Amino acid sequence: MEHVPGVYIDGQARDGLAGEFQVQNPATEEYFATVSLANGADVDDAVRSARLAHESGVWRDTPLAERQQVVLRIAELIEERAPELARLRTLSIGAPYSEHLSMSAPLTRMYVESVEKVVFEQVRRDSLGDALVMRKPIGVVAGVVPWNVPVRNELKKLIPALLCGNTIVLKPALESPLTGAALMRIFTDAGLPPGVANLVVGGPETGEALVAHPDVRKIAFTGSTATGARIAAVAGPQFKRLQLELGGKSAAIVCDDVDLADVIPPLLGFGFANSGQICASLSRIVVPRRLQDAIVEALAEGARRHVLGDPMDPATTMGPVVSERQRDKVLGLIESGRQQGARLAAGGGVPAGLERGWFIEPTVFADVTSDMRIAQEEIFGPVLSVLPYDTEDEAVAIANNSEYGLHGAVHSKDPEHALELAKRIDTGTAAVNSFDVPLSAPFGGVKGSGVGRENGVEGFDHYLEWHSYKLTPALADTLQQRGL
Ligand code: NAD
Repeated sequence: MEHVPGVYIDGQARDGLAGEFQVQNPATEEYFATVSLANGADVDDAVRSARLAHESGVWRDTPLAERQQVVLRIAELIEERAPELARLRTLSIGAPYSEHLSMSAPLTRMYVESVEKVVFEQVRRDSLGDALVMRKPIGVVAGVVPWNVPVRNELKKLIPALLCGNTIVLKPALESPLTGAALMRIFTDAGLPPGVANLVVGGPETGEALVAHPDVRKIAFTGSTATGARIAAVAGPQFKRLQLELGGKSAAIVCDDVDLADVIPPLLGFGFANSGQICASLSRIVVPRRLQDAIVEALAEGARRHVLGDPMDPATTMGPVVSERQRDKVLGLIESGRQQGARLAAGGGVPAGLERGWFIEPTVFADVTSDMRIAQEEIFGPVLSVLPYDTEDEAVAIANNSEYGLHGAVHSKDPEHALELAKRIDTGTAAVNSFDVPLSAPFGGVKGSGVGRENGVEGFDHYLEWHSYKLTPALADTLQQRGL
C-alpha cells in the first residue's frame, strides 16, 4: 500500500506524530494508501516554521515580480504532474478522472495576472497632511479546506496567500489527504523557500489546533457552515482575520420564455457535476408551473443517461459520493423528500449492480416546496429539486427562501431581464443563461454562505493589511516623483 507522509515543514516531508490513517477508495471501498496524521506538536512545528520564514523576510521581501515567477512555475508543474494529481484525487474522492483538474493551472495564472492590479503603495495628500499608505502581508495564514475539489481547494488558499508575501500552513480534509503533499513537492521544486508553505494532514482536531494557534494571523477556511461558525467562535476573541467560504443551496430560475434545448444541458451538467458535491451547485431548479412537467421529464431523462461506475474508466460520467457517511446522509435526505410529498421523477436509491462503493443514482424530485428539507438543506449529492412558481416575484422569493446565499442562475431569452432578476437574488454570485462566473470575478457568499471573497483582484483583500505613515511634504513630493 502506498504511504504518504502527512506533514511537510521547512521544505521536508515527514511523518505526523498522530499515527496512521487508511485512505479508502469510495468507488471500491478498498483501502489503497496510508497517511500519517499531524498532532498538536506537528501543528506547533508547522506554525513556527511559517512564522520564522515570515520574520526572516525570505519571501515577504522578495519582489512581487519574482514571487509571480515562482507561482508561474508552480502552474507549469501542476500541468506537468496533472495525471498524478488527478489519479490521487480520483482514488480519494471518486470524481471521474477526466473532470475538473483542468481549472487548477488557469486559476493559478489568473491570480498571477490579477495581483498586478493590487495597489500596494500610494501617497495620499489632503488638507491635513501627507501620508504613505501601504498594504503589507499579514504573516502566518491557516488554510483549512474540504475534500470536494482536491487541488483546486488547496490552491485557492495557497496561491493568493503566497502572491501577497504571506507564509501558510495548509490543512486538507481527511477524505482527500494525498494531493496536499504532492502540491508541497511542486512548490519546493518551483523554488519556494523552505518554511513558506507547510502542510499538516488531519481531521477536525488538527484543524482546530491550527486555527486556534496564537501565531496564526489569518484564517482562510472553506467548508460547512457549522464548522465555519465554530472557527469564527475560536478566532473571534483573538481578532484573527477571517475568510469563510461555506455551504450553499443555490437556485436556478427558469423564465417562461426559454427553449428547453438551451436550459436543460447547463442545468444537468452543473447539477450533477462531481456527484453534486459542489458548494455552488444549482440544486434547486425554480420553474414556471406550466413548464414543470416538460422540464422534469428532460432532467429525469438526463439523469438516467449518466453512466455510473469506475471513475478511472473514461466511459464513466458519474462516480460515487465521497464516503459511506455522505452516502447515508444523501439517502436520508432523499427519503425525507419522499415522505414530505415530493414527486420522485428519477433515481432515488443505490444503482443496481453498484452496491459496493458509495454510489447513488442521479435523482430528480418534482413538486418540491420550500418547506421541505430537500429545498432547505445542503444535500451535497446528486439530487435536483424542482420547485414550480406562478409569478416571477414568487420565483425570486423561492430563490431567497434559504439560510444560504452563495450562488444562483437565471435563464431567459431576454438576458437583460435575466440580469435584473439575478440582481434580486440575495447571493454573492449569479449566472445569466449559464451556471458559473469567470475566475476573475470575486466569488463568495452572503448569509450562511460565509464572509469574504476569493478569485479576482478582490481575492487578495483578506491577505493584506493596510498601514499608514505620516510624511513630510518634501518626502511626499519625492515619493510621488518616484511614481507613488
Ligand atoms: P467540513 O466543514 O466538515 O470540513 C472542512 C474542513 O474543516 C476539513 O479540513 C475539516 O477537517 C476541518 N474542520 C472540521 N472541524 C474543524 C474545526 N473545529 N476547526 C478547524 N477545522 C475544522 O466540510 P466538508 O464536509 O469537508 O466539506 C463540505 C462543505 O464545504 C459543504 O458545506 C460545501 O458547501 C462547503 N464548500 C464551500 C465552498 C465555497 O467556496 N463556499 C467550496 C467547497 C466546499
